[in-house]
Amino acid sequence: MNTAPRKAKVETQKPRYVARRSGVAGDAVRVGQGWDIHRLVAGRALRLSGVDVPGDRGLLGHSDGDVVLHAVTDALLGALAAGDIGQRFPDSDPRYRGIDSALLLGEVVELVSARGYRIGNVDVTILAEQPKLAPHMPAMQRRLGELLGVEAEQVGIKAKTMEALGPIGAGEAIAALAVATVAEARRAAAQRLRSRTRSAPPRSRPPRRSRKR
Ligand code: MG
Repeated sequence: MNTAPRKAKVETQKPRYVARRSGVAGDAVRVGQGWDIHRLVAGRALRLSGVDVPGDRGLLGHSDGDVVLHAVTDALLGALAAGDIGQRFPDSDPRYRGIDSALLLGEVVELVSARGYRIGNVDVTILAEQPKLAPHMPAMQRRLGELLGVEAEQVGIKAKTMEALGPIGAGEAIAALAVATVAEARRAAAQRLRSRTRSAPPRSRPPRRSRKR
């Protein structure tokens, strides 16, 4: 009696679906993430998502310290694989001292279209213990949509506390998380497909084998 373990059956069938190489369907929609945190200090204005929020403390930063716009800027740069906000607008550069972060975001929004993409949607979560941001959320959503050049329904924005945990929970800082999608603009997609078709080598039939021997 044969007691040797049976050999596992080798799978020889070809997979039915083979992932397409990057550069075709994979490039149509891209996602990026961004996040930022700034210290909350006395004697600074608080600006979030391009909206001035009244209060006695604001975010410290080389620019206006708008964590929301910084996180969104990084998310868009991430979606383009185009580096980050610190590389593009270094805080060692005096041109960016006290700058309105909307201008930085504006440059990156232009970069998105220059690369042949349009913004799909953006979703932001602000982490802040105080001040209470609920009354300002509609204005923040509207302003972010304006800055991105998209409709309000393409912009999600929400705020959460940290349940008094950590430095944000202690009111020492405010952070923001963002994700963004960019979709290839139709014209750019059409151009890319045309150029691929043009550059593809002509298909030639394999030489017919003669059946005669
Ligand atoms: Mg920042």
